[in-house]
Amino acid sequence: MTETIPVPGGSVATRIALLSGPAQAQARAAATCTPGLAADPWSFDTVPGYGPGASLADPVPAGTPRQGELPAEYREAGAAELDERILRAKAALGSRVVILGHFYQRDEVVRHADFVGDSFQLARAARSRPEAEAIVFCGVHFMAETADLLSGPDQAVVLPNLAAGCSMADMADADSVAECWEQLTMLYGRAPESGGKQPVIPVTYMNSSAALKAFCGENGGIVCTSSNAASVLEWAFERGQRVLFFPDQHLGRNTAKAMGIPLEAMPLWNPRLPLGGNTPERLLQAKVLLWNGFCSVHKRFTVGQIDQARADHPGVRVIVHPECPMPVVDAADESGSTDYIQKAIAAAPAGSTFAIGTEINMVNRLAAQHPEHTIFCLDPVICPCSTMYRIHPGYLAWVLEGLMTGEVRNRIAVPDAAAAAARTALERMLAVRP
Ligand code: SF4
Repeated sequence: MTETIPVPGGSVATRIALLSGPAQAQARAAATCTPGLAADPWSFDTVPGYGPGASLADPVPAGTPRQGELPAEYREAGAAELDERILRAKAALGSRVVILGHFYQRDEVVRHADFVGDSFQLARAARSRPEAEAIVFCGVHFMAETADLLSGPDQAVVLPNLAAGCSMADMADADSVAECWEQLTMLYGRAPESGGKQPVIPVTYMNSSAALKAFCGENGGIVCTSSNAASVLEWAFERGQRVLFFPDQHLGRNTAKAMGIPLEAMPLWNPRLPLGGNTPERLLQAKVLLWNGFCSVHKRFTVGQIDQARADHPGVRVIVHPECPMPVVDAADESGSTDYIQKAIAAAPAGSTFAIGTEINMVNRLAAQHPEHTIFCLDPVICPCSTMYRIHPGYLAWVLEGLMTGEVRNRIAVPDAAAAAARTALERMLAVRP
């Protein structure tokens, strides 16, 4: 894991370089992406689910946190006023607050971040500011939970909009995973198998609730990121015959396939069906059981888009995130985490052309930061992570001004009962070499 990127002067200059796509694709965009979400996300805070965007059809579990109505003064303020209020609050709070901005976050928010990075880089960055009383995480819910797990006991982690969840993380809830575990335990037993290995080791992607990280901690399992998934799977196979990987089937499949595990040994687990929709025989032959979860943003990328990029830009280098479906990863030149993508671009000779398969805010920022290259998003339909977009500057101003008056709004605190076991799973990951 590399260092998080500090943002000099708290500002990121951005040049948006969107590529327009074919008319059909634009029509699809109109159907699934709503500009209103970017402009006034509060209009969607009251409707069930996460609102318009690629994750519209995703199930939203009971108990998903809902944001209360943002006061009118923040909803009605213009962009310049909000910018000024955020700057003023940040200056007044000084070292008492640290603001973290995820790579996929909108620019109007990222420009105020002290650190920009992926979820794990940011959680670690927060540790470098032990003097900060509040850590404002401009990301989604599981990221704020991880920051709470890794920060000091006296530090408050704040999520500016509670409706900013991750649709993928929500696809694996604690009850469904516990039920799956019970069925697997009945099938495999609890006794170590050949070589003293456990029948199955649970591995959760960082994009999961603290409850699932705790589940892994309690059951000999571990957490992984998209940077270290292969090393973590190796760790798991040293200790177990099989792996239960959740919630992202694509990261699990792409990683295991690259390690030489055949697809037949990777059954999909559908939590709505007995034995996940598999026969006992299939499960007995399994090496990696893949939870039926996915990222709504990354599943939009297709092999057809790669073919089109190659036709339009001969010599283009196609890099996609491993949350993309397997055929897309197979067709790309490379796949890797957000950290990998940005390092690959930084190391490339000037004049390179990149087609990138990840969230649009990050791709646009990379294009702005590297004018020496041509960088564009593989998907001509501009559809950002709709839940990440919930962090409008209005919410950021609201939580910062609350801190100025001593009020901690939208604090995310992992219950003590889950925190210790969740930390155990995270510490196991930290001990694994990337
Ligand atoms: S891009 Fe996908 S995995 Fe990342 S926060 Fe958004 S929905 Fe979740």
